[in-house]
Amino acid sequence: KMGFISDALNRIQPSATIAATQKARDLKALGRDVISLAAGEPDFDTPDNIKEAAIKAIREGKTKYTAVDGIPELKQAICAKFKRENNLDYGPQQAFVAPGGKPIIFNAMIATLNPGDEVIIPAPYWVSYPDIVLLAGGTPVSIETRLEDGFKLQPEALEKAITEKTKWVIFNSPSNPSGAAYTAAELKKLTDVLMKHPHVWILSDDMYEHLTYDGFKFATPAEVEPGLYERTLTMNGVSKAYAMTGWRIGYCAGPESLIKAMTKVQSQSTSNPTSISQYAAVEALNGPQDFIPERAKVFKERRDLVVSMLNQAKGIKCPTPEGAFYVYPSCEGCIGKTTTDGKVIETDEDFAMALIEAEGISVVHGAAFGLSPFFRISYATSTEELTDACERIQRFCASLR
Ligand code: PLP
Repeated sequence: KMGFISDALNRIQPSATIAATQKARDLKALGRDVISLAAGEPDFDTPDNIKEAAIKAIREGKTKYTAVDGIPELKQAICAKFKRENNLDYGPQQAFVAPGGKPIIFNAMIATLNPGDEVIIPAPYWVSYPDIVLLAGGTPVSIETRLEDGFKLQPEALEKAITEKTKWVIFNSPSNPSGAAYTAAELKKLTDVLMKHPHVWILSDDMYEHLTYDGFKFATPAEVEPGLYERTLTMNGVSKAYAMTGWRIGYCAGPESLIKAMTKVQSQSTSNPTSISQYAAVEALNGPQDFIPERAKVFKERRDLVVSMLNQAKGIKCPTPEGAFYVYPSCEGCIGKTTTDGKVIETDEDFAMALIEAEGISVVHGAAFGLSPFFRISYATSTEELTDACERIQRFCASLR
C-alpha cells in the first residue's frame, strides 16, 4: 500500500460495473467478439426536445455559473414533478440539483456522517452506496435479502439491523442491480418499522421510478408514510428516465436544514451542475412525457425475453423483476463445476470471468453488489444482441462439467 494515499480511499473499491464495462471495451479493441451486458445506461437517445432546449440555452448565453443548488426554473420543475407524480409537497428551498444522482448521495453523506455512524444498505445494492458511506467516514451495514423474497428487504430484518448508531437507511426501488420494486403495501411495512425509530433518516433513491412493468404502481417512502417526511430525502434524476446519463443532472428534495448542509458541501466541491444541462433538465421534466411508457414497453419485452432464455440455461435461476433494466440471476447451479479448459468455478466472480473468456459475454459478478452467488445483466441493449448473448450463456452453462 502506498503511504501517500489516504486511509479513506484505501477503504474503497473502484466501481466494479465501470471495470466490467472497461474490460469488455478492451477485449473489443483487441478484435474479440464481445457483447457487454454490464452497462448501467439506457441504449436510447436523449429526446430531441430536450437537446433543443440545451442548444437554445447555449445560443442565449446561459453558459455562466448558476446558483450552487440549481436554477430557479429547474427547482420549480422539480417541485412540480414531486407533486404531480408522487403527491409530495416541497417548496423550492427544499429542492436541490447536483451533477448527477451520485453526487446527491455523496453530498448527503458528507454533510451528515460522523465516524461510527451506521448506514443500513439492503443487498444486493448499487455498488456506490457502501463506498460513498466509507469515503464520508461512516460505516455501511449491509442486510442480505433473498431471491425467495424477490430480493426485497423484510421488516424484521430492518428492525434487527437498526442500532443507536444508525443514521440512515438507503432504499432503492426499482433496484439496481436486482430490478426489485416495492409496492406501497410492502413499503408501508418498512416505514412502520422506521416510525418506531425517530433518529433514523431515509434516503430513497428513486432513479428508476419510470422503468416499471406489468402495470406496477410506483411508491416512495415519504408518500406512503407522511410521518417520515421530516426525515426523508427523496432523490431522483434525469439519467435513466430521460436517457441523459452524460448530461449529469440529479435532484432531490427534503428538509430545508439538510438541503442547506448539502448546498454547503457542493459550494466547496463541484459548485453548480452544468448550466446547459440544467436548462435541458427543465425541458425533460416539464415537456412531453409520452415517450416514457413507449420505452418502458420495449424494456418489458426485453426483460421477458432475457428471463425466459436465462431460465433455460443449465444451473441458472432468474426471477422476474418489477422494474429497472437489470436482472439478477443466481448461478448457484454452476458453482463447483469445471469449464472446458479445466478451471473450477468457485465464485460468481469466477463465473463472470470464465463467461467472458469462453463466450465474450460481459456481466457483473454478484459479490460486487454484496450478494452471491449471482450476477447482474443489463438488458438495455437490442433484442438481437440479447438473443445472441443469452444463447451464448446457455451454451456456456451447458459446457460446464
Ligand atoms: N442510483 C442508482 C440506483 C443508479 O443505478 C445510478 C446510476 O447507475 C445512480 C443512482 C446515479 O446516477 P447518475 O448517473 O445520475 O449519477
